[in-house]
Parts: sequence; structure tokens; C-alpha cells
Amino acid sequence: MSDKHVWDDVLIAPSNILEYDMNLIREKKGFLCDMDGVIYHGNYLLPGAVDFVGWLNRENKKFLFLTNSSERAPRELQQKLARLGLDVDESHFYTSALATAAFVRNQAPGCTAYVIGEAGLLNALYDAGIMMNDVNPDYVIIGETRNYNYQNILKAVKLIQNGAKLIGTNPDLTGPTEEGIVPACRALVSPIELTTGRLAYYIGKPNPFIMRNGKRILDCHSSEIAIIGDRMDTDIIAGIESEIDTILVLSGVSSRESINNFSYNPKYIFDDIGFVKYFK
Ligand SMILES: [Mg+2]
Repeated sequence: MSDKHVWDDVLIAPSNILEYDMNLIREKKGFLCDMDGVIYHGNYLLPGAVDFVGWLNRENKKFLFLTNSSERAPRELQQKLARLGLDVDESHFYTSALATAAFVRNQAPGCTAYVIGEAGLLNALYDAGIMMNDVNPDYVIIGETRNYNYQNILKAVKLIQNGAKLIGTNPDLTGPTEEGIVPACRALVSPIELTTGRLAYYIGKPNPFIMRNGKRILDCHSSEIAIIGDRMDTDIIAGIESEIDTILVLSGVSSRESINNFSYNPKYIFDDIGFVKYFK
């Protein structure tokens, strides 16, 4: 598919935007950028990722890779991108695990938690001064993990029945992997919600809490930022509700057809994150 064809395609976007003002994107001071389905899918980089990061660096743009996945710490994400051939400093990553730790610390400094999750979540919580407790914790916090079994569901249920508050790092029900669609945070939280009759509070996108933290880290106003993502139900709604211009890329979960299932539109739609090639 030639570049020309891609561009023609974009001009008849379902949002009825007849002409894109590329300058509006080019002149943004900062970018919040989703990762999975935008920069990479599994273990390969998506088209345009190298060009996009090169452009950010050349133009001295502020940027933050904002991911709802709570499994990995920023350093692990940095190393993953490095393995794929993209060099990005650790300071450019922000995860739902970091946002969850910030949220819980704000709510109850020095509190304790029982956690079902991976190192990314555990490290974030320790760094925020939250200690682990599987006897009488203030919170039960759940993120993506492969260490999930009947025993820890049972433990979580008991602790919640004894008064612990239930937090999910992100509301994603499923996630795309190379092995296909796998359960994500909300699918893991669901049995605990159903058993206890309590609903979790979810921190990741589209919760404005993670968006506000992202903006604060970029040190930009909403009007100076664009958010780039592949999901209408997290990335795009998060941008709209935070009054940040939205860019949907079709390299991940949302397809051109699926956009019609939502009552809102992204401001821009591109096939992938290589849209910097359209800057004149
Ligand atoms: Mg994504």
C-alpha cells in the first residue's frame, strides 16, 4: 500500500473530517502515547514507531508512553523497547501501576495492601511507601499477572469481606498478545467482584486520574497535548474526557468499522503511528 493511498483513505475518515490540519498535531508540545497496538504488538515494532520517536527527539517534544498494563516497571518497558530497536529513556514511561500507587498513597498514606500482580505493580507500591499485608490490609490491589489461582482469589475475597477496599490497576477486560486474546485486569478482578458483591475502582485509562498525572509529568496544559492510542474505549475516551486532542491509530484493537459502535469520534485517524511522514 503506497503512502498516497493511505493518505487518501484517511481523508475520508468516518468522523467526517474532510481535511486534517497536520500543523495542529505538529505544533503540540507534548504527546501521551499508548504502547501496545501503537508502538509494538507482542515482540515486534509496528510500522512508523521508529520514525515517530525519531521525530519526537529531533523536535524536542515532550512525551510519555502511557500504558494500562501494570505488569512491567518503566525500566522493563525501556529494555523491551531497546530490544526491539527503540532507544527511549526510562523517564518516558508511565504505567497504570504507577498511577495506582500514586492514587492509593494520596488516599491513605502509609497504608497496606494485598496484591495480585507482577513486579511492575509491587515495585510501584513499595516505592510509594505501601507495604504488603495478607492478614488485614487496607486494600486488595489487582493487576495483570500469570500468578493467578484459586488460592489468591479466595484470599482476596476473604480480605474484602473483612473490610479491605478493592482496586484494579486498569479496566481492560482483555489484551492482545501473540498468543491471541488473553484475560486482562478486569477479567481477573471479576470473580472477586462477583463473589463479594463489591465493585473495584479502576485506575488506568480512561480514569482522568492517570491522565492528570500524565499531564503533570509532561508539564503541559491539555490544549498543548495530543493522546495517541489504538482503543476507542480507553485511549480515545480518556482524551475526550480530559479535553486532549485524540489520534486513533488502526494498528491495534479498534478498526475503522468498530468506530461506529461508539457515540464519540477521535479527532484524527491514521493507519499507524507513522503519520509524521505527512508533516510538510
Ligand atoms: Mg493499546
